[in-house]
Amino acid sequence: MSTPARIVLLPGRDASARRRHPWVLSGAVARVEGEPADGDLVRVLASDGEVLGHGHFAPASQLRVRLLEFGKESRGEALVAERLRAAREAHPLLAGTNALRLVNAEGDGLPGLVVDRFDDVLVVRAGSMAWLRRSDAVGQVLRDLTNARVGLARPDVAALRREGAQAEPRTLWGEPPSEPVLVRERGREYFADVAHGQKTGFYLDQREARDLVQALAAGKRVLDLFSYTGGMAVAALQGGAVHVALVDSSADALALAQRNLVHAGARERAEIVEADGFEFARKQARGFELAIADPPPLARRKADVQRAARAYKDMLLHLLRHAPPGGRVLAFSCSHHVGPDLFRKIAFGAALDAGRDARITAELGAPPDHPVSLYHPEGHYLTGLLLELAP
Ligand code: SAH
Repeated sequence: MSTPARIVLLPGRDASARRRHPWVLSGAVARVEGEPADGDLVRVLASDGEVLGHGHFAPASQLRVRLLEFGKESRGEALVAERLRAAREAHPLLAGTNALRLVNAEGDGLPGLVVDRFDDVLVVRAGSMAWLRRSDAVGQVLRDLTNARVGLARPDVAALRREGAQAEPRTLWGEPPSEPVLVRERGREYFADVAHGQKTGFYLDQREARDLVQALAAGKRVLDLFSYTGGMAVAALQGGAVHVALVDSSADALALAQRNLVHAGARERAEIVEADGFEFARKQARGFELAIADPPPLARRKADVQRAARAYKDMLLHLLRHAPPGGRVLAFSCSHHVGPDLFRKIAFGAALDAGRDARITAELGAPPDHPVSLYHPEGHYLTGLLLELAP
């Protein structure tokens, strides 16, 4: 292989790479030596010429290089196959499901790449040109490794567009499923539209929240706000909820939710509402003994934090105000910028303004198939708080 192009950092901008943080920001780059193409493996050097690591070049991205290796040596392209082979082994905390995240980007040393397994279908989500270009190679390794029947490439089209790249979903191998895939998760069953649904088709990161909901739901009236395809609702109904209201703004998601409720034999205990979730919280969230709110990320960038905090607070204020005595609110933030500390403060402000006495009885994060690298705290994006109101 030819020597990789060299990305030389500005003086004093090497601390982050030395701390093994995988992102080299565009503002830290002094110059590019050579003519690397989008997605090429490049070498990153400190201003004095010391080699800091190797990673994927992205000329139009804020994340100019995503580092895969640190230090002088590089295993080159062979590294990807090595890391893929090392990703997710059987984990004791992941028993009882046929749907699993196999590769969690930075958390698995493969920045920008996500791979989810749904039974015998793998979904490869490239978040950069580097992975888009390597999708076939990635697919080949995963196919040999897992013997999955089908591999689908479903790139993060929006993220790639922001970096000036065109991307289309396509089949990597096998016959793409004409029907949603049946996910069997700890006794619950869901149809997941892995070819067209949001992200890779199903929110694997909320598995433990679904366990919790199932355990809390017996005899309760439950609100599943931002329900998507009914992940929480089915869990609640299986746990013995007397009634569940599902609210989402996506008609496609609700159509599949309807199918999931029928499949669970619980359609008559559920009500499906296509509406704005924040509006519903404000006006219609009365009488639910368990209210779950799992909104989309409200702060994608740091600059959004203030606005996001207000939206979360407003939502929580209404959910807490409307909750019956002894009721529970299970709320999530899936933005790294609104993490556990801030989310607790937001909940505090909301409870105070609602004039309700509430305690935190559980805090949730993403499950073990979504590992977070200690060197990349931004990988911690999911925070859940279970709030219990005084009786
Ligand atoms: N709890 C779900 C995942 C929720 S993802 C599960 O366990 O599977 C967030 C959902 O919010 C998506 O389904 C999206 O369609 C929906 N959404 C986004 N903006 C919304 C809005 N303003 N009102 C209602 N739903 C919204």
